[in-house]
Amino acid sequence: MTYPERDPNCLFCKIIAGEIPAKKLLETPDAIVIADINPQAPVHVLAIPRRHIPSAAALTPADATTLLAVIAAANTVARDTGIEATGYRLVMNHGADAGQSVDHLHVHLLGGRALGWPPG
Ligand code: 5GP
Ligand code: ZN
Repeated sequence: MTYPERDPNCLFCKIIAGEIPAKKLLETPDAIVIADINPQAPVHVLAIPRRHIPSAAALTPADATTLLAVIAAANTVARDTGIEATGYRLVMNHGADAGQSVDHLHVHLLGGRALGWPPG
């Protein structure tokens, strides 16, 4: 882990610190889940580690517990919103071609409608 616990210029670090408002659906010791500000599906939330990990590409084995906590938090919200029964997608974007716009790892949870494949 060569990244900082918190990046003072990072949007999601500021949301986690409560400095920028967000609709929080779940808070756990290692992760939070917030509503996406620009939802692309009836359920579209972001599961985010509290620690500033820049992207999936920065993960190391030392992050295994944190990553599992992030996915578990997304799964909990999937159950709570009822989309576990109908299906959902977990997405991590890395870099320009994938459209990553916030450099703090986050897992998109999308569901509530049929999702096209392959994604655009
Ligand atoms: P990315 O494109 O990096 O994979 O995903 C970033 C996501 O963060 C986008 O879906 C975008 O709509 C969302 N987002 C950007 N700014 C904010 C914000 O200020 N609050 C919330 N809740 N979501 C945001
Ligand atoms: Zn951050």
